[in-house]
Amino acid sequence: MQPDSRSRREAPDDKFREECGLFGIFDHPEASKLAYLGIYAQQHRGQESAGIAASDGVEVRVSRAMGHVADIFDTQTLQGLPGRSAIGHVRYSTSGDSHVANAQPILVDCAHGQLATCHNGNLVNASELRNELVQAGSIFQTTSDTEVISHLYARSRATSVEDAIVESLAHVRGAFSLVMLTRDRLIAARDPHGFRPLALGRLGDAVVVASETCAMDLIGATYVRDVEPGEVVVVSAGGVRSIKPFPPAPLAHCIFEHVYFARPDSYVFGLSVNEVRTDLGRRLARENPVDADVVVPVPDSGVCGAMGYAEESGIPMRMGLIRNHYVGRTFIEPEQSIRHFGVRVKLNPVRSLLDGKRVVLVDDSIVRGTTSRKIVKMVRAAGAREVHVRINCPPTISPCFYGVDTPQRSELIGATHTIREIEKYLEADSLAYLSLDGLLGAVGTQRASYCTSCYTGQYPVEFPRNPEAYLQLALKLDKAPPVTK
Ligand code: SF4
Repeated sequence: MQPDSRSRREAPDDKFREECGLFGIFDHPEASKLAYLGIYAQQHRGQESAGIAASDGVEVRVSRAMGHVADIFDTQTLQGLPGRSAIGHVRYSTSGDSHVANAQPILVDCAHGQLATCHNGNLVNASELRNELVQAGSIFQTTSDTEVISHLYARSRATSVEDAIVESLAHVRGAFSLVMLTRDRLIAARDPHGFRPLALGRLGDAVVVASETCAMDLIGATYVRDVEPGEVVVVSAGGVRSIKPFPPAPLAHCIFEHVYFARPDSYVFGLSVNEVRTDLGRRLARENPVDADVVVPVPDSGVCGAMGYAEESGIPMRMGLIRNHYVGRTFIEPEQSIRHFGVRVKLNPVRSLLDGKRVVLVDDSIVRGTTSRKIVKMVRAAGAREVHVRINCPPTISPCFYGVDTPQRSELIGATHTIREIEKYLEADSLAYLSLDGLLGAVGTQRASYCTSCYTGQYPVEFPRNPEAYLQLALKLDKAPPVTK
């Protein structure tokens, strides 16, 4: 029996959400199967829809659906995607955009031939471009900003596929890491600021691209280097060609990839996520020490930070909260209320580790604060004598406009309340955040090349006025402000 839709709720979480994960492979006999594994390894970057496009040299075919990678693809589906090159995509979106039409890869067929596109990021001028294209006669099938690139490509008068792609990308502003597939080539591109990650690797003679290197590990590929900011890499039977067609721009790698999004076993922006995240925890301990008996991470993303905190402070770390890894995005809520049910469905305290203890609770971030408040209560209810909350980054005070799903500023507790007020709201014995300097210290000499806008409100790429209404414009075009002439 289908559960009553009114009793289905999104699993609770209070985090920024990465929008997408990308994968591509060129010249391998099992291309679509490896693309499947490549996006399977990156499921954490998007859980609402997934898709794969493959080319056999004659035709590009695509398969996309709502849901998790393992639920969408089976042997039969992958057999319907023959060929030696393939690209794949996982996507997260908010409910308004939760529709298969917005799933990627987006496949178009035009005068330049077929082009399948996977995008991670957000184009800040998508609404303007879309308006212009519609005025010029383009008919859009989706509400995704990615389709703007497809239309620009189709309208380009350039004589080669590469030139048409470069010409299209020259019109867009904002964050884009792209993996594209034509009948006979794979193209990877990154915006000049390098907001979102994109790595290049090898599997024998095959070329591999992925948002995170954990995807390469799974298929036995070797990470070679990142696709550079502003670089377009064209892979064809003739080899790998690198083009740098865009004027250089200040680098703005997303620091949140290190704080929360990326898997700790990945390298992003050339750095080990585990190393950076653990170092954040060490710095957090140095900046915000406390007398306590046990360091407890909020799993999973708080684990590296807690390890660093424990290492630096000398306080032992214990897994005092256990996460249920098998919770989907929806679950059936009982009719009778259960205390802390929403959080408890994902996390459960280990009483034997918490009872009578002074606990340092380490988490990667606080967005609205609602979940953190419930977790503090839960830890206290399990017998903790004191609960000291330590956050592995500074307070998040501003939304993201570069491909991360975030609440409006008014919903960010770090923007609307002081740390002492948040501490009181959480009912914690103490609350402390890592400083911005501490955060940037963990990426060492590369500190100037990071975007930290969600902590500072200083944005490296301008976006249209009225940012609160504009929030994630490309992914919520129905919510975008009208474009005036
Ligand atoms: S605003 Fe925050 S989440 Fe968005 S790109 Fe910058 S650092 Fe990343």
